[in-house]
Amino acid sequence: MWLCYSPKLDAVYCEPCWLFSEERKAKDNWREHGVRDWRGLSKKIKIHENSQQHIFACCIYEKWRHNETIDKNIEEQIRYQSNFWVQVLERIVNITLALCKNSLAFRGHRESFDNEYNSNFLTQVQLLAKYDNVMKQVLSMPNGSIKYLSHQIQNEVIHCLATHLKATLTADINSSPFYSIIMDTTQDITKRDQLSQVFRYLKIIKNEKDEATSIEIKEVFLGFTEIYNHTAAGLHEEILNLLEKHHIKLSNCRGQGYDGANVMSGIYNGVQALFKKNQPNAM
Ligand SMILES: [Zn+2]
Repeated sequence: MWLCYSPKLDAVYCEPCWLFSEERKAKDNWREHGVRDWRGLSKKIKIHENSQQHIFACCIYEKWRHNETIDKNIEEQIRYQSNFWVQVLERIVNITLALCKNSLAFRGHRESFDNEYNSNFLTQVQLLAKYDNVMKQVLSMPNGSIKYLSHQIQNEVIHCLATHLKATLTADINSSPFYSIIMDTTQDITKRDQLSQVFRYLKIIKNEKDEATSIEIKEVFLGFTEIYNHTAAGLHEEILNLLEKHHIKLSNCRGQGYDGANVMSGIYNGVQALFKKNQPNAM
């Protein structure tokens, strides 16, 4: 039976026509807005039922119901394509992780497969393509095809992985009853001050029954942040902002670690003294 009722439209419509009717422009209420005028409905149904457009839509509908789409080949191809690109992404993610783990630069002076010397990222891609069919297929695509190897994609993948990693680490820090912060500023190559953020915390290891079996002391680096205000008040504010940004609870902080500089460690107005006013337990 093809007749359907839509409570939202308060109208009856034809499901096969609504899904598969070919004449999209045809002003047929059975597939456009539904039929609301109940007068002479049985006559209208009869006319629609015998229309060529309806019979055609019903044929497709029947095929579709039996999972035999007319576009079966196209669908298979789409499935194959999406599966292929998932595999490509998997390889790109793993190359990214390998380079990050070893703190290697991604890009170089030359970035083209025509060069003998290439950037680290593309060199890894090339190496993989030597033994892996998926990557080989990507590299054999004609120039101008989308290959997901550009530096924009590289940055996007790094960003996605970093976001995921930070979320995992901060969840880990927050699952611990206590943590300490270790922060220090240092100048980067462009002479901009960067604050490094390290968190030290306790991880409770549990067994399958959710019982604590041992503890582990962890220390993780959550990143650098550029510092514009170098006073103790400015740095203190920045640290509080960072905790808030990472959703790390200030109430669990039990320790602070800095270098001996007066701005950081000064007992009256240093960052540590200011921080202690917010969290007196942070030794
Ligand atoms: Zn119909």
